Amino acid sequence: MVEDIKFERGTGFHGSALREWLDKNLPTCPFCKKDPEWEYARKMMGWKAFFSPSATRYFLRCRQCKAVLSVAQDAIVPADSLEVLLAKKMINKNFKIESVGNNENLSQLVGQEHPLETLQDWAKK
Ligand SMILES: [Zn+2]
Repeated sequence: MVEDIKFERGTGFHGSALREWLDKNLPTCPFCKKDPEWEYARKMMGWKAFFSPSATRYFLRCRQCKAVLSVAQDAIVPADSLEVLLAKKMINKNFKIESVGNNENLSQLVGQEHPLETLQDWAKK
């Protein structure tokens, strides 16, 4: 469950690349419309994660409203020309809404999956 995940603002090359990507592409939280200061964690989803990169997921949490999104790791690695890869692959992957945090009025969204563009649209509304 998302409650058990330890989120942090990443440091180091890998963490900072992801953080910069998020700050650039999702600068506004799609749920509370504030600056999310995304925190994140990487989680292996069972034994399959040893064989399938998509079975390892990044969990992203808004610091303001505690809403949680997740996206498959293979949207993000391997790290060849990371910027390009992030931009290209993350856009093709759906983000899953794991929790809407304090936004109880949005609880019908939990479990839904949406592409990045949809989340960006929500952030603008
Ligand atoms: Zn938020």
